Amino acid sequence: MTEAKQSEIRENITRIRKDMSAYPNTQLMAVIKTRTAEEINFAIRECGITLVGENRVQELLSHYEEIDKTAELHFIGTLQKNKVKYIIDKVDMIESLDSESLAEEIQKRAAKIGKCIPVLIEVNIGREEAKSGIFPEDLENFCLALKNCPNLSVRGLMTIAPNCEDKNEYHRYFSEMNLLKDRVFQKYFPETEAPILSMGMSGSFFQALENGSDIIRIGEGIFGKRNALPKKE
Ligand SMILES: *Cc1c(COP(=O)(O)O)cnc(C)c1O
Repeated sequence: MTEAKQSEIRENITRIRKDMSAYPNTQLMAVIKTRTAEEINFAIRECGITLVGENRVQELLSHYEEIDKTAELHFIGTLQKNKVKYIIDKVDMIESLDSESLAEEIQKRAAKIGKCIPVLIEVNIGREEAKSGIFPEDLENFCLALKNCPNLSVRGLMTIAPNCEDKNEYHRYFSEMNLLKDRVFQKYFPETEAPILSMGMSGSFFQALENGSDIIRIGEGIFGKRNALPKKE
C-alpha cells in the first residue's frame, strides 16, 4: 500500500470522526468489501477502527484469517441460506436478516454450535423491488416469527436507504426507521436494551446521525472509490 493511500485512509477517518463528534455513542463501521487485508488492517491498527463490515461470503472467507481480530466483524450483505454455515462461527453479528427461512437456517446452525447469534432485521424502507429487506408493513409479523428462534438475539434494525439526489429526502426514510425501531422493540423485544439502528453510508451518514443512527457503515468515504464488484457469487 502506498503512503498516499495510507494518508488518504487516515485523513478520511479523522474527518468522519470529527463529523460524528456530536454523536459520541454512534459507532463507525468500516465497510471492507473489495479492500485488501493490508488496507483493512491499516484502518484497524493505525486508525483505531473497531468495527468492520463485509457483504460477500466469498470475500469474507478469503481474507478472514488475515484480518486483525481486535475489530468486531459484522456481515452486512445478502446471505444465501446455504452459506450460513461458512460464516456462523466467524461473525459477531449478522445485520442483514431478511427472511424467515434465513432466520430458521441461522437458528439451526447457531443451535448446532451452541451459540446465540446477534442479528439486525434488514428493513426495505423504500420498498424497492431490487433491494432485499422486510417491508415496514410486514415487520411486526416477522418479529413474531423470530420468537421461534431462541438462538437469535434480535438487537435492532438495519436499512439501506434508496439513493436520494436531494439529501434532505433521507430524513424521511431514516426518521421512519427510528419510529419503527421504537415501536417494534417495545412491543416484541422489550428485553432488548437500547436497540440498535444501523443506517447511513458514505453519501447519507449526516442525515442518519441526525435521526438516531447507532452504526454508520462507510466504505468509499474511508477507503476511496471502489472498483466494480466481481460478478455475484
Ligand atoms: C457497500 C455497503 C456500504 C458502504 O457503502 P459506501 O457507499 O461505500 O459507503 C454500506 N452498507 C452496505 C450493506 C454495503 O453493502
